Amino acid sequence: MARLNGKIILISGGARGQGAAEARLCVAEGAKVVIGDLLETEGRALVAELGDRAIFVRQDVTKESDWTAAVAAAERLGGLHGLVNNAGIYQPATLMETDAALFERHMRINQLGCFLGMKAVVPAMETSGNGAIVNISSVAGLRGSPGAIAYSATKWALRGMTKAAAIDLAPRHIRVNSIHPGPIDTDMLKVRTPEQNARRVGLVPMKRMGTAQEVAGLVLFLLSDESSYITGAEIAIDGGATL
Ligand code: NDP
Repeated sequence: MARLNGKIILISGGARGQGAAEARLCVAEGAKVVIGDLLETEGRALVAELGDRAIFVRQDVTKESDWTAAVAAAERLGGLHGLVNNAGIYQPATLMETDAALFERHMRINQLGCFLGMKAVVPAMETSGNGAIVNISSVAGLRGSPGAIAYSATKWALRGMTKAAAIDLAPRHIRVNSIHPGPIDTDMLKVRTPEQNARRVGLVPMKRMGTAQEVAGLVLFLLSDESSYITGAEIAIDGGATL
């Protein structure tokens, strides 16, 4: 039995990386997906691969009007049952290297984007009967992260926003959880040198990066009815990096 049969899921930043893996798994598990991203070429190629149960919308998560359009696209498919707040940027810099513009850029995309997303989906999820929101935080939202103060600030914020929203939205039958990936093998980590990434993996007890598919499996569980009594939880998926 497909675990997301008949559900409609919106995935921000879904054109590549973890978001794309989540879109593939959701479709394989019976869902229809709305893939939002700034990356039109990659997004449209993914939709061509997934067939008529996927659509692409060009979406900048910092724009409220783009969220309205993405939710409307989901409603045209028949409703909305899941949101993966996945879009994000990682432009690491230490405290002394970070200027206000870099700090604000992270806040707008990683934090404000998730806030706007959670708010935008609520009416459509209520109409659909229930909903599940998965906020993609990071291990950088569970502990101090070297040389990435702006990114850390936003990922810690997501962890708190998840818990506040979980309380607010429980009466509306909407669950909200955060997940906290360790190093995952996607384009995002190309901003670090191979040596820096190897050093980071050396600190992971399992001595390897995670894959986008492994993260997608956890997201699927949190979107599905198998996690129907889980809300406000923070789940690390990090090979033991935060132990
Ligand atoms: P990617 O960089 O491959 O994916 C992020 C996606 O978000 C890209 O397609 C990116 O497009 C898109 N995006 C960026 N800004 C916006 C915006 N304003 N509006 C819409 N889309 C946008 O990396 P991952 O798949 O690894 O990252 C997914 C999530 O996982 C992120 O939230 C990240 O912080 C988190 N994460 C990643 C880890 C890792 O090690 N890879 C570890 C922990 C958490 P564009 O190229 O145009 O910026």
